Amino acid sequence: MTAYDRRDFLKVMGAAGMVTGLGGLMWPLEAFAGASGKVVVVGGGFGGATCARYLKRWGPKLDVTLVERDSSFITCPFSNEVISGELEISEITHGYDGLAGAGIKVVHDEVSGIDPGGKSIKLKGGSSLKYDKLVLSPGIDFRWGSIENDQIATQEAMPHAWKAGAQTLLLRKQLHAMKDGGTVIIVPPKKPFRCPPGPYERASMMASYLKTNKPKSKILILDANPSHSKQAAFHEGWASQYGNMIEWVKDSDGGDINSVDPASMTVSNDFGDTYKGDVINLIPYQKASLLVANAGLTNKDGWCDVDMGSFESKIAKDVYIIGDACVAGPMPKSGHSSASQAKNCAAAIVSGLAGSEAPEPTYNNTCYSQIGPKYAISVVAVYRLKDGEIVKVSGGVSKVGNKSRVHKNESKYRVGWYKSITADMFG
Ligand SMILES: Cc1cc2nc3c(=O)[nH]c(=O)nc-3n(C[C@H](O)[C@H](O)[C@H](O)COP(=O)(O)OP(=O)(O)OC[C@H]3O[C@@H](n4cnc5c(N)ncnc54)[C@H](O)[C@@H]3O)c2cc1C
Repeated sequence: MTAYDRRDFLKVMGAAGMVTGLGGLMWPLEAFAGASGKVVVVGGGFGGATCARYLKRWGPKLDVTLVERDSSFITCPFSNEVISGELEISEITHGYDGLAGAGIKVVHDEVSGIDPGGKSIKLKGGSSLKYDKLVLSPGIDFRWGSIENDQIATQEAMPHAWKAGAQTLLLRKQLHAMKDGGTVIIVPPKKPFRCPPGPYERASMMASYLKTNKPKSKILILDANPSHSKQAAFHEGWASQYGNMIEWVKDSDGGDINSVDPASMTVSNDFGDTYKGDVINLIPYQKASLLVANAGLTNKDGWCDVDMGSFESKIAKDVYIIGDACVAGPMPKSGHSSASQAKNCAAAIVSGLAGSEAPEPTYNNTCYSQIGPKYAISVVAVYRLKDGEIVKVSGGVSKVGNKSRVHKNESKYRVGWYKSITADMFG
């Protein structure tokens, strides 16, 4: 972020009360005001925090408890600017006081077990909680071992930074310590994974830092996939902002890495090519959080199948799974998708507990990616439910050839998006 963009970020972050509805849900709320019962939400991130707030907003008599392991939430959105040094981690960290102030009981503990038959969850602290309805939004975990030698210990030498926090700061430290003329290697996992445009925005933000501080350096993206999100718009932006600093290698051209060696800081592919990096951002293959896997709520691919209207699990009654952990048709695994799913899920629960019909769901996703100072691109999609499946009904992606003023505006809208969605989650 340039000084200009950073000023905008801080100004908008400090402004009061700019909250937009993200789900586009409209229906007479009075029909649901009588909803009562005990709803427990697990996970205070994009899906869980949004769901808890909308449950309480639409069903004020509901007893809503949010269980979250950590005392504050660090967003992955804008964490690439923490890596580049343009933001501090404190600027993307949010507390839970707003949720408590909205009448939600906030419990900071780790859920260690789920008993759908007994309608209760166990907490690591020793207690358990009963529920009428349970919402789970615990996010992702990693498939260690999908690439040879990619174990949990590998993240120390080759940080993923795919859950914001200590890993974000470690990757930043390594990038900032790298010599000028060094090589950064980014290894995105095979799809599906959290935030499809994330690795490419990360390359952009790293290049933004290197261009100013270590201009002889290079970024190599070794991709396990044949194509990537917003590809044409990213590649146009990279060429205009960074010349040939960023090189993208697709799977069939040697990008599909199958083994890593943290000791020699190398990664290798099936063709016998070995690449050495000064900094290696190895993003592991992904699956739904261990919490839902251990509770037997995942399918053979490691994700959770749900009714796509209400997000109720196809395996356990009265258990709802939203966010990155669930399979939601063509919706990408993003914070915006998670929040949109959260509102549809809250509507289904509140209307069910009020004995009313649920409103027709609509879903959306917006994802901005920063490429350089005053230069961002975006993708937008609107979805509806058709024959039990979520289908895309409209949307679009930034065009190649857009004028610089369009990119400059997108950069500002991106900051507004962040302010809106985090205000909607945390108050
Ligand atoms: C680099 C990067 C950039 C991104 N940028 C964007 C962006 O610009 N826009 C966008 O829309 N999305 C973006 N995303 C994606 C977004 O962060 C995720 O899709 C989103 O966080 C998913 O929401 P969730 O609720 O499923 O999980 P999370 O937001 O990860 O929340 C899960 C919560 O559950 C808690 N939890 C897990 N297990 C337990 C347990 N057993 N007990 C108690 N608590 C538990 C965790 O502590 C966590 O707080 C980005 C991701 C990355 C990695």
